[in-house]
Amino acid sequence: MKKITIAVDGFSSSGKSTMAKDLAKEIGYIYIDSGAMYRAVTLYAMEHNLFNGEDIDTENLEKQIQDIHISFQLNPETGRPDTYLNDVNVENQIRSMDVSSKVSPISTLGFVREAMVRQQQEMGKTKGIVMDGRDIGTTVFPDAELKIFVTASPETRAERRYEELKAKGQDASYEDILKNVKERDYIDQNREISPLRKADDAILLDNSTMSISQQKEWLMQQYLQAVQ
Ligand code: C5P
Repeated sequence: MKKITIAVDGFSSSGKSTMAKDLAKEIGYIYIDSGAMYRAVTLYAMEHNLFNGEDIDTENLEKQIQDIHISFQLNPETGRPDTYLNDVNVENQIRSMDVSSKVSPISTLGFVREAMVRQQQEMGKTKGIVMDGRDIGTTVFPDAELKIFVTASPETRAERRYEELKAKGQDASYEDILKNVKERDYIDQNREISPLRKADDAILLDNSTMSISQQKEWLMQQYLQAVQ
């Protein structure tokens, strides 16, 4: 069967990663969580004191951007890829509320986006990839054979993130998460470079009332149609 490129974009905590990961596993494709890459850059900036309150030391971050190496390695326990920042497993750290609250401003920076997009395009050179994010169908892989744009109400998405953090034993309040989800939606949609928007040729999915298995089945159908 021919190998294609699959772009899954959408709002934060819309469940796009779960769908994308499951599909990749089932069809033997590489899965890349591009949001994890922006989160890893954010963690790097935090660890290197490049935040002063809300302000980012962009000059030094730009100088150091070449020193930020992000990779993914399969975790045999979960069967899913974990994110590594300069060879350290940061999978749990990058999902914290602290990183979530700082990642969108980092993602507005042109030099950060350029560096990430370059790496992402390299990863997808040979196709057979499912990548999720905000600008995959519009900027990273505008020629992807299958593009999906996922959305759900902010309340549904906050609830999902809350349950996810709780399951991992991380502390967070639903109200804080809802505020963060709305803030990120706003910044992601209104930034100058590659704002979050549905590509004209993307298929829209509102999964507010769908179960994970229903979404999985739906995505599999889209894939089967795309490779026909
Ligand atoms: O997907 P996730 O919620 O983990 O992404 C974290 C943040 O990274 C998003 O809120 C967005 O600001 C940024 N991002 C982006 N472009 C992508 C993926 C994520 O700007 N392709």
